Amino acid sequence: MKYSKRLSRYLLPTVKEDPKEAEIPSHRLMIRAGMIRKLASGIYEFLPLGWRVVKKVENIIREEMDGIGGQEMIMSAVQPKSLWDETGSGRWYLYGPELIRFTDRNDREFCLGPTHEEVITHIVASNVKSYKELPLLLYQFQMKYRDEIRPRFGIMRAREFYMKDAYSFDRTVEDCRKSYEDNFKAYERIFRRCGLDFVSVEADTGNIGGQSSHEFMVIADTGEEEIAVCRCGYGANTEMAEFRTDDRADGDRQEAVRELEEVHTPGVTTVEEVAGFLKETPKKFIKTLLFRTDDGRHIAAFIRGDHELSEHALKKAASANAIEFIDDDTIKKKLKSSPGFSGPVGLSSSGAAIELYMDSAAAGIVNGISGADRKDYHLRNINVRRDMKADFREGNFRKARQGDLCPKCGGALVFKRGIEVGHTFLLGTKYSESMKAVFVNDQGSEENMIMGCYGIGVTRVVAAAIEQSHDGNGIIWPAPISPFDVLLVQIARDADEFCAELFGKLSEEYEVLWDDRALTPGVKFKDAQLIGIPVQIVIGKKYKETGEVEIQYRKTGEKEFVRPEHISEKLKKRSG
Ligand SMILES: [Zn+2]
Repeated sequence: MKYSKRLSRYLLPTVKEDPKEAEIPSHRLMIRAGMIRKLASGIYEFLPLGWRVVKKVENIIREEMDGIGGQEMIMSAVQPKSLWDETGSGRWYLYGPELIRFTDRNDREFCLGPTHEEVITHIVASNVKSYKELPLLLYQFQMKYRDEIRPRFGIMRAREFYMKDAYSFDRTVEDCRKSYEDNFKAYERIFRRCGLDFVSVEADTGNIGGQSSHEFMVIADTGEEEIAVCRCGYGANTEMAEFRTDDRADGDRQEAVRELEEVHTPGVTTVEEVAGFLKETPKKFIKTLLFRTDDGRHIAAFIRGDHELSEHALKKAASANAIEFIDDDTIKKKLKSSPGFSGPVGLSSSGAAIELYMDSAAAGIVNGISGADRKDYHLRNINVRRDMKADFREGNFRKARQGDLCPKCGGALVFKRGIEVGHTFLLGTKYSESMKAVFVNDQGSEENMIMGCYGIGVTRVVAAAIEQSHDGNGIIWPAPISPFDVLLVQIARDADEFCAELFGKLSEEYEVLWDDRALTPGVKFKDAQLIGIPVQIVIGKKYKETGEVEIQYRKTGEKEFVRPEHISEKLKKRSG
């Protein structure tokens, strides 16, 4: 007997009206479908139907984690500050007000865990000593806490959320890369098995730190992040996206090179203003952006007028952790230029100490326009390879755009929106070093363990699945994570016995929810659409005349009449 329920005895408080505070479909539909209820801002209760979907996702994750050698455990949500101090990572402070802190009766400080690197490293450091005990992959499912400044979107950006977090401990970097790869592949299987359209993208490591990192994004119009994807499987968030330089994009190569010329452009500074003044297109412009790096160097980036700078690419090329705009005073005194009128020709000939980064597209401009490094003047007919008097570095320093060529296969990049549901980090020795998670190797000497960590927002997966798959009437569950396989909609009032028998029979193979409530057909059909169970079997008046029941498929809206004994065969054919 599968997990089956009669709706008359099941807590499923559906709601007709859209809740006012709900801004996105998953929030709206989870409340309306009786899956969740709000207790306080960003804090939700999961009612039976909602928790069932969470458990479906959890079970898929558990199977895949166990499949790669994971061992499930559970750590406390409460963590002592002393443990965080031990890492010397400064994360207690880095987390700022997002960390929910409290003190006990003895004035000892604690927090509610937003993540568990410190705790797990402590456990492994104190219990694992020898290379023979490695590798280890430990994981848990648990509520995590983050005091969001503005909780919103229901469980998507909540202060309490259910997560799977896993941690790997290896002897060598190569072994750790293998663990990372195993987890990465398990994630791909997990999201595929959940029936989700997703992509994995390279990501910044943020305040967890580490050497390599990927985000798993569910594709949905309501996603908070913009990502560039290609059919070959390449994916990156748009700030980080790489692309191949497309020479065909430079349409003006045929133009004859002309003499450099200075023009008076009083009071106009922006690309649009100067373009209007000189009656030229922004594609002729070389935008000049001046930055100071965190280690005090001055750098200039040159980008074509219709392009946007990729700070990520520039920082990478300049080996800078951070960059900020240079103040006007420094531009005048140190760079001998004029704020708003800087350009590649002047900056490369002034002798000022500045590194020059020229985007390939800007370098390809024939007879370009840029600032003349003195107030109210621009230069036209700039050809950078002819006119710049100092070495410059050429590369892709602009942001990728829709239609740019994929760095892997040369296909066209498409921009989509995504919801982050999973994140993998190759941590290296960031925690093991400071928390002394060491082991004795086969030569008898001590080494740091090499770590990785891997998270999935389980409750977020549920919301993301709804964002990706719903319509005006309600949720359309992917079959593998649907709360039930089959919804039995009893319309005929005198069919109790018939339904009970069918319910019993179907429950041998399927998880069945039987809507046996004494409500009007209209209400029942509306609820059926709203809660989105993939297969609905309607027992209407016809069953007495012809002995047939109607199967309705939530996703396609198709309907067909079948004899009850053929239901199972029909459903198998369809899913197989
Ligand atoms: Zn590609």
